[in-house]
Amino acid sequence: MIELHELTKHYGDTLAVDRLSFRVPQGQVTGFLGPNGAGKSTTMRMILGLDHPTAGRVTLDGRPYDRIDEPLRFIGALLEAKAVHPGRTAYDHLLWLAQSNRLPRRRVDEVLEVVGLTPVARKRARGFSLGMGQRLGIASALLGDPEILMFDEPVNGLDPEGILWIRNLMKGLAADGRTVFVSSHLMSEMALTADHLVVIGRGRLLADLPMADFIRQNSRSAVRLRTPQPEQLLAALDGAGLRAAPGPDGSWEVEDGDLAALGELAAEHRITLHELSPQQASLEEAFMQMTADAVQYHAGDGGQRPDAPAPSPDAAPAWGADWQARGGRKQEER
Ligand code: ADP
Ligand code: MG
Repeated sequence: MIELHELTKHYGDTLAVDRLSFRVPQGQVTGFLGPNGAGKSTTMRMILGLDHPTAGRVTLDGRPYDRIDEPLRFIGALLEAKAVHPGRTAYDHLLWLAQSNRLPRRRVDEVLEVVGLTPVARKRARGFSLGMGQRLGIASALLGDPEILMFDEPVNGLDPEGILWIRNLMKGLAADGRTVFVSSHLMSEMALTADHLVVIGRGRLLADLPMADFIRQNSRSAVRLRTPQPEQLLAALDGAGLRAAPGPDGSWEVEDGDLAALGELAAEHRITLHELSPQQASLEEAFMQMTADAVQYHAGDGGQRPDAPAPSPDAAPAWGADWQARGGRKQEER
């Protein structure tokens, strides 16, 4: 279990991490999602004790990192910056790590096998592809057989096979009962990997919820209608007990509407339709909207911006209430 309490980090004038509080429990993959610059790597470095928080704290199973003996047996991490001497072989790199952490030599062979680097174990790291380097970093993380594993953007630049491999590895580690915390700036990747989702934007917590909930709440569909007779259309919909919300370019959208039934309704009322189309919001769109709102919120000076566009009814997915509740609370603290 990783726990963050009001974790905050300033770099000069930059507020990289802003009062982050959340928990990463064991036995599942927790995805840490945010656009570039959101503060993911900074947070992960603080979890590892590589960077000191300006305020707040992190505990690992109740203890701060610097009170853990033999940390490699407790937490393993793959960070963005690779720390492998290019002239060293994969085997020597891992052996050096194992020896400096009093881990048995056999672990080196075991982790090389797990990450599939046994055939190139005696090759120097400078000749490694990005994918091989990533596997070596993961081997280092696994060396101490730790309970907690953390991966910072592990699939960046990998080919589909490497991505699938890492995804399955993380799921396997979680299925073993370990704590797995993985960052990404790609919603699509998180949706396929994580059981739980923590979203940040500009250092702030935007959402903390089970992935299944995020998917359910953001997989809503709507039917878009466009007509030169909007008044008749709205009256017909009203008569059928349906509500429409204004869509883009003068269109109307019926949430969870039935395409065929809406077409028949229009025909029945002799309403000309210029468009009758299904609309599906993607998870990526939901994520972008969530973080775009955070950017707007931060751009404001106190949250109330006179030039802020009025939110359109269809632009507020179901997580909005929860997020707004959080945002609202944060705003009051200001
Ligand atoms: P992410 O990993 O989500 O892309 P980072 O944690 O790398 O985000 O960065 C968060 C913010 O903190 C960015 O604005 C970044 O420029 C800034 N930052 C990160 N590390 C440093 C540093 N060592 N010195 C100054 N600013 C930093
Ligand atoms: Mg990063």
